Amino acid sequence: MYNNDNKNSIYDELDKLTLEDLYASFEKNTVSTKSVSTKKKEVSAEECLYDKLYICPICGNNFKSKTIRKGKVRFINNELDLKPNYEPIQPDYYDIVLCDKCGYASISSKFDKITSSQEDLIKENITPKFFPKQYPVIYDVNIAIERYKLALINSIVKKSRSGEKAYICLKLAWFYRDKSDPENEIMYLKAAHKGFNDAFVSERFPICGLEENTLLYIIAAIGSRIGKIDDSLRILSRLIVKRGLNTRLKSKISELREILKKIKS
Ligand SMILES: [Zn+2]
Repeated sequence: MYNNDNKNSIYDELDKLTLEDLYASFEKNTVSTKSVSTKKKEVSAEECLYDKLYICPICGNNFKSKTIRKGKVRFINNELDLKPNYEPIQPDYYDIVLCDKCGYASISSKFDKITSSQEDLIKENITPKFFPKQYPVIYDVNIAIERYKLALINSIVKKSRSGEKAYICLKLAWFYRDKSDPENEIMYLKAAHKGFNDAFVSERFPICGLEENTLLYIIAAIGSRIGKIDDSLRILSRLIVKRGLNTRLKSKISELREILKKIKS
């Protein structure tokens, strides 16, 4: 019926099965079935984006800008200074709207908020020096940095408030962190720290979507990275006793405070 001399036959294995093997196989099966049934479908980077239509408030150009589909990206975590990390792409990389005709660039929430004197400043100081570029569908960190720097130069030219410039600088610092470039990261953190401090005393909240407690926390977190540990601890001590803090911010405050206290001791 079959060749008894073949020592590698499947039939040789039949008598070797033990109860332990069977138990183990059931467990393995259970695990693999579970992981199949609960695993979410992988979302591609392209699926997280769509083209949003914009009309440039300066030159009237109609153009499309890559925009995040909020429900598609998966939140991973917030770092100590609230830098959010997502999969499979970083929403922050796509938050600059850039007119490909006149070179006007801004964070998306501020794109339409421009005065006529700011329009003139852009026309005089940005447009003559601008030429459009073709960007791929998926932005890497270098493209994100280029677009944010365009927005930063625009905001300097149009004399934006400190908060807006600081917000762009904070994002640039985070992108340089993604690139493992601490020199540029620290430079932009220092700029963001200065700008947010100015904004804190002179601007109305929310500042670029940041409420007072969140901004104060970010100032402390950035400060701790640029050698202002005493200042940061003072801010955190003031913050921790405030009422109405959300749980996530409260736990970040405690976490950072503990780390800084250890450094000091
Ligand atoms: Zn334009």
